[in-house]
Amino acid sequence: MRYVSTRGAAPVLSFGEAMLTGLARDGGLYVPEQVPVITPDDIAALAGLSYEETAFRVMRPFVGDTFTDAEFRGAIDAAYRGFGHAARAPLVQLAPNHFLLELFHGPTLAFKDFAMQLIGQLFQIALKREGKRITIVGATSGDTGSAAIEAFRGLDNVDVFILFPEGRVSEVQRRQMTTPSEANVHALALKGDFDDCQARLKDMFNDFAFRDAVGLAGVNSINWARVLAQVVYYFTAAVSLGAPRRPVSFTVPTGNFGDIFAGYIAKRMGLPVDRLVIATNQNDILHRCLTTGRYATDGVKPSLSPSMDIQVSSNFERALFDAYGRDGRAVAQLMEELKAKGGFGVSQGALQALRALYASGRVSEEETLATIARTHRETGELLCPHSAVGVAVAEATRDPAVPMITLATAHPAKFPDAVERATGHRPGLPDRMADLFARPERVTSVPNDLAALEALIQERRRN
Ligand SMILES: *Cc1c(COP(=O)(O)O)cnc(C)c1O
Repeated sequence: MRYVSTRGAAPVLSFGEAMLTGLARDGGLYVPEQVPVITPDDIAALAGLSYEETAFRVMRPFVGDTFTDAEFRGAIDAAYRGFGHAARAPLVQLAPNHFLLELFHGPTLAFKDFAMQLIGQLFQIALKREGKRITIVGATSGDTGSAAIEAFRGLDNVDVFILFPEGRVSEVQRRQMTTPSEANVHALALKGDFDDCQARLKDMFNDFAFRDAVGLAGVNSINWARVLAQVVYYFTAAVSLGAPRRPVSFTVPTGNFGDIFAGYIAKRMGLPVDRLVIATNQNDILHRCLTTGRYATDGVKPSLSPSMDIQVSSNFERALFDAYGRDGRAVAQLMEELKAKGGFGVSQGALQALRALYASGRVSEEETLATIARTHRETGELLCPHSAVGVAVAEATRDPAVPMITLATAHPAKFPDAVERATGHRPGLPDRMADLFARPERVTSVPNDLAALEALIQERRRN
């Protein structure tokens, strides 16, 4: 299995190389040269298997010879052992033919644990084998950072630096990043918004001298290995509801488009997915793009669902690559235009291709709160605000004849203020992290400045 860049001008890599590299050297994102197909019989055979066994069967063809079967199985088992639910990704029912896929039973209570815990294990195996050290730098609107820190804390051959927008993450998210005491963990509060964090991270990757000097590696959702890990729960959920005999639809609370792109990969692999619905909050660049054909930035408006507060959606580039018939030059041009002018028009052909795959909806702050309240009243379920955005869009767009699975991306206790405001109930943290508010915090405030950030990382990383 080989991986190519969405901008067509970077080296073709193996799974292991693409995983350790993150962003391609031409600024693009790695995607598999071909998507392997799973036959309906092989999908049917997944029924009743454990999450881990399904994960092995779904992901194995993408991994090539980077890992042996035994190594890959071992990594999967270790990755999900710390989850607080035996099913890993349980389904609960909200209404006739509407289901919630709970992806928040991992160590940091958001779906990002599914990918991050696995790549923590895979990085460890690969680095040990090659005798290499790396510096992981991540940008986060809250959940990626805590998940990355949780996955890499204490590892000998990895230093982790996480940039988060100061004052724009929830207290639980912040504490999950600032309370780990391991010396290889560095939480950096950047004076700016999430897009600034993401932009400085991209700048570091494009500074090849720095990149090579520190062994820079990325674990943001642009890392292909993360997308791949997220493909698995689309399979477990659909199979639970009768795939491959019965098609299902998914609604995905979306920011950087990594999670929903994993759903698209599942569909390309042969999972019968009827619709993939993009749910956005008031930061609705994707919904506007699908509606108008113009992808244009519009600033970031802080919302009740901060992990979806984005201006540009990094993984959308992967969707554009396929919509433009895998023409890397065309994608590179669009991205140049985005950088220079803050937007671009999608061609008619590409727009048609995107609309054939994805539907979309946008949810206001009031609707988010109303959905949390109504769902609690009608089902007893407490939704986090991101999951509520998903449920609201699913309810507005779904075909009652097709099972709809809405992804619940975070635990309500990660965003207790919004949940309490909507329902009057303050969700409590699971017992295993009940002392989070008592642990001391460690954080460095940093300017939105590339040179200063690079100097700090050079100084703090271990050699
Ligand atoms: C990251 C995140 C999202 C958005 O996922 P993308 O893959 O960036 O689209 C939604 N909800 C929560 C809780 C998240 O942490």
